[in-house]
Amino acid sequence: MTRKVSILGATGSVGKSTLDLIERSPDQFSVGAVTAATKVDALADAARRTGAELAVIADESKLTELREQLAGTSCRAEAGRSALIEAAAAEADVVVAAIVGCAGLEPVMAAVEAGRTVALANKEALVTAGALMTSAAQASKVTILPVDSEHNAIFQCLACSHGDDVSKIILTASGGPFRTDSAETMRSVTPSQAVAHPTWSMGAKISVDSATLMNKGLELIEAHFLFGLPSERIEILIHPQSVIHSLVEFIDGSVLAQLGSPDMRIPIAYALAWPERMTTPAERLDLAAVAKLEFEAPDDCRFPALRLARTALEAGGAAPIVLNAANEIAVAAFLGGRIRFTDIAHTVEDAMAESNDLPPTCIADVIEIDRATRARAQSAMAATVN
Ligand code: NAD
Ligand code: MG
Repeated sequence: MTRKVSILGATGSVGKSTLDLIERSPDQFSVGAVTAATKVDALADAARRTGAELAVIADESKLTELREQLAGTSCRAEAGRSALIEAAAAEADVVVAAIVGCAGLEPVMAAVEAGRTVALANKEALVTAGALMTSAAQASKVTILPVDSEHNAIFQCLACSHGDDVSKIILTASGGPFRTDSAETMRSVTPSQAVAHPTWSMGAKISVDSATLMNKGLELIEAHFLFGLPSERIEILIHPQSVIHSLVEFIDGSVLAQLGSPDMRIPIAYALAWPERMTTPAERLDLAAVAKLEFEAPDDCRFPALRLARTALEAGGAAPIVLNAANEIAVAAFLGGRIRFTDIAHTVEDAMAESNDLPPTCIADVIEIDRATRARAQSAMAATVN
């Protein structure tokens, strides 16, 4: 029996790695829906190669082009936000959520509410709507399989756990390209330096998040919602080699870790084949060649994003939404050359200080807080730049 997979964000880094695995195992998988924001050629190409049933481009102005490119195939082409949500909810055994940012929230919720198993890469969706999403998943008896390598590692380590035998989880972080740089040096780093990650190849936004360590901050919040542990039982550890993807400490003092080469196809494959395993072309780990594994405590002073994310997790309510929205706006401004690298954390800190948003009670509240925070952060940045 083949497993039908839909891929939201099929043209991105995680989306392409997912397609690579599926195309290598055509007997195991078929493709339901594939979606993208604007890259119509790459989307049509992926749909044709995999025999997808539905292709959705978020940018409605690209629909004619998509339909032209898919003419003569059995793939239906649609466009726009509601088609994206329809694609997420469409019948499938697994929905790979690989859209970047809070833009992926409604599609992920649609998949969860439709009872689909979700392989979640889109951490911003869980960060912004964690409580709402986990209770919706419980209500529809849906499993959220973590694709983020750290959370996937923890998920694997917890396979033999009863839940109450865990004392803490330890999320590893490479430390990013500026791990050893001074705060002063970081003031003048460029977007191309920031996206040049030392160990992983990823999309631009998450690469900048890895450089500020906001990625690890978002992952701290993600871990809280996935595994139900409070902030004080989730530790962050810098591990520059990115060989140990995360660890779980149990009440008896045992520590389990998951190791592997830094290739997203390993955690994606685990989610695609779960509860089985499948082969992948990922490079095998050669520990003798790696020779040494190093660890250090993170530095909250040079990397304030970590502290801000922990504050947001502990504050709860709207704080993680505000943290995430201000960060998305600030990262885009940095990539566009409008603010300094070190202004990203300042923008987030100011947005959190100004927020008096009430806790969200539904997804519409989350979207409204996200929208309002973006608007506030945009005007605050414009005021500083002018
Ligand atoms: P990416 O930028 O390479 O790709 C993003 C995908 O989302 C693209 O297909 C794009 O078309 C689509 N998209 C973007 N904005 C959209 C919108 N407004 N509406 C609809 N579609 C939209 O990103 P990525 O690096 O693949 O990351 C995707 C998600 O996975 C992020 O949340 C990231 O944090 C997470 N993640 C990525 C990696 C990695 O190795 N790249 C690892 C762990 C987690
Ligand atoms: Mg990660």
